[in-house]
Amino acid sequence: YKRELQQLKGKASITLDERHVELAGNIGSPKDVEGLINNDAEGVGLYRTEFLYMDKEDAFPTEEEQYEAYKAVLEGMDNKPIVIRTLDIGGDKELPYFKMDEEMNPFLGYRAIRICLDKTEIFKTQLRALYRASVHGRLRIMFPMISSLGELLSAKEIIKEVLAELDKEGIAYSKDVEVGMMIEIPSAAVISDILAKHVDFFSIGTNDLIQYTCAVDRMNQKISHLYNQFNPAVLRLIKMVIDNAHKEGKWVGMCGESAGDKRMIPILLGMGLDEFSMSPISILPARKFITSVKYEDMKKFADEVLSLSTAEEIKNHVDKTFNF
Ligand code: PEP
Ligand code: MG
Repeated sequence: YKRELQQLKGKASITLDERHVELAGNIGSPKDVEGLINNDAEGVGLYRTEFLYMDKEDAFPTEEEQYEAYKAVLEGMDNKPIVIRTLDIGGDKELPYFKMDEEMNPFLGYRAIRICLDKTEIFKTQLRALYRASVHGRLRIMFPMISSLGELLSAKEIIKEVLAELDKEGIAYSKDVEVGMMIEIPSAAVISDILAKHVDFFSIGTNDLIQYTCAVDRMNQKISHLYNQFNPAVLRLIKMVIDNAHKEGKWVGMCGESAGDKRMIPILLGMGLDEFSMSPISILPARKFITSVKYEDMKKFADEVLSLSTAEEIKNHVDKTFNF
């Protein structure tokens, strides 16, 4: 089996009837690039930049420190597309040097893009570093936790301000940076037809999308039986997001854990997902599956899945159809 996986290195991730998808990796630091290369990732689908901030003890990382980290990933991945997510703190992720009030519901509170739109100097420093690094590869910038069109437009407005500053200072940046957002809040999924007009891409964050759709805290062991990626409500939202994006000619990825899950991949492939971003060790097994099936068959399979009523039925249908 291991040898079979090795032989898939350098091969395209393409179905028997020639549907091509991108298999990318999730990383938390430039050090993780090696693991991606070893597993033949076709890009980075999620660079969680919050670790850059969490590793510091007494101050935010400087523009220069950030620039070096982003450049290292862009250069290290040899001109493959790199999705870098802007700061996603709050929830369970804290910074020792940034005091946040205690909240009743941190996952519903002051976090991620909400902080960036409030403390714009933090956001601008990151965006400057990102655009400066953009000359070193193929950069895709992604906003986390967008819940409305207003937030997306505000974030894009701040990009405009940053680019005007860079222009004024004569600092070079790539004109081909794609700007996208995560779909990890149900309100964003529901208005994804509207949001799709204003982005280059979506990436679905199932870790949070499941938690918010089902009102199940993703960290709470006591209710973990209710946290289920096969929940038909979650799957319908995913399908809706993919269809809405495609209607606008935009591509859709997924960077939540489900993207690398062998039981989810046939469903997602059949729904038309364009990019799958996962932990590096899942990439070659995913390619093995994708290159062994027909997209037309997976489409039919996804339709069958979407006609079922419960997570249990769906999981059973997956297990009965495939020998996992
Ligand atoms: C997600 O919510 O699915 C996601 C990829 O982001 P994180 O796990 O960092 O919240
Ligand atoms: Mg998330």
